[in-house]
Amino acid sequence: MTLSKTLAVSIGFVFHLLLMLVSGTVHPTMQRASSLVRTVAVVGGTHGNEYTGVFCVKALERQLSKGNASASYPFQISTLIGNPEAFKANKRFVDQDLNRQFSGAAMAAAKASLPSALSVEQRRAIEIDDLLGPKFGGSGDEGTNKPPAMDFIIDLHTTTSNMHTSLIVGQGDPLTTQAAAYVMHKCREKNFNVCIMMHTHKNQEARPNLATIAPHSFTIEIGPVPQGVLRHDKVEEMQAALNSALEFLKRHEKEPEKLLDELKECYPTGRIPCYRSAAAIRKGEMSAKLVWPSDPDNENFPQWLVHKDVQDQDFKEIKTGDPLFVDLDGEVIPYDGSHGSPILVMFVNEGGYYYASSGTGISIAQRDEFDLATGTLIPKNNSDTK
Ligand SMILES: [Zn+2]
Repeated sequence: MTLSKTLAVSIGFVFHLLLMLVSGTVHPTMQRASSLVRTVAVVGGTHGNEYTGVFCVKALERQLSKGNASASYPFQISTLIGNPEAFKANKRFVDQDLNRQFSGAAMAAAKASLPSALSVEQRRAIEIDDLLGPKFGGSGDEGTNKPPAMDFIIDLHTTTSNMHTSLIVGQGDPLTTQAAAYVMHKCREKNFNVCIMMHTHKNQEARPNLATIAPHSFTIEIGPVPQGVLRHDKVEEMQAALNSALEFLKRHEKEPEKLLDELKECYPTGRIPCYRSAAAIRKGEMSAKLVWPSDPDNENFPQWLVHKDVQDQDFKEIKTGDPLFVDLDGEVIPYDGSHGSPILVMFVNEGGYYYASSGTGISIAQRDEFDLATGTLIPKNNSDTK
């Protein structure tokens, strides 16, 4: 498929709206996230079998096409199906995980390859970088100094694990982390179970996920949802989070001081509870995982089951000796204490993590807090918070 054809298919439409500039008032008590948001992309189907996000993108397109809704946003909203080929095939990906193709190293490798040697996802990553980015164009590293097309990306995902609404953000960007705090508060008012997960990659360049093309980004992860299935309740849960995020961005442009005052009332200590991935122990891993062995004839098929006592127990503690996996003989494999004890587990039995290309295993979480004003983790006395 040519790029122009892909553009026509994959960008539903783009609304050009009146850009409303907020007058330059000073905000003395707390640092307002200062960036002005002019363009927002809402992406679904980065993983082709996560239908909830695609449904929400299509519903948003209909809502915006009615005019009144789109006119109420002081920024331009674009929509995108991340991986249309995988979506049509109802697969997570065709060749490899698209959501691991946007680190500096992965992008450089794709751009240095012959077009004929690119995987479907490498080719798509280059296209998406052209559409929503470029991710590295603004830094001068690549010599272009082109500002990214999108100021903010909201990427919609589902998980088969019992993660409810998890808002995944990077560290140190107050606009994004204040948005996450706002969404968490608004969704909890609607009785949704919400948490914030903070990534602590070294820098923007090291972050491999699609949303990091933009200077500000946010991944909404909803579970449990089976792959390739739509559920009314989970669509509603995702829409509540998405709409709250767009509402935050709108209010951030129109009434920033009132919005900040409201956030400070919601979180009087200025400390926002969150989780983050535990640091990797093994070399080459992005974060700590409890890994099961894979079938010798199929790297995507686990040789061990996740034990029923751990199933659906995301964000719960396990200790050394607790049941963790079950092997082909029905023997229980206990947790060996390799990552400390007790530990918190998350993304338990996530279908996407059966794939070697996505990183097999169960993720390990740490409880943390970040500062509402700065979006950075608050150092703990006995903790590694680098
Ligand atoms: Zn996903």
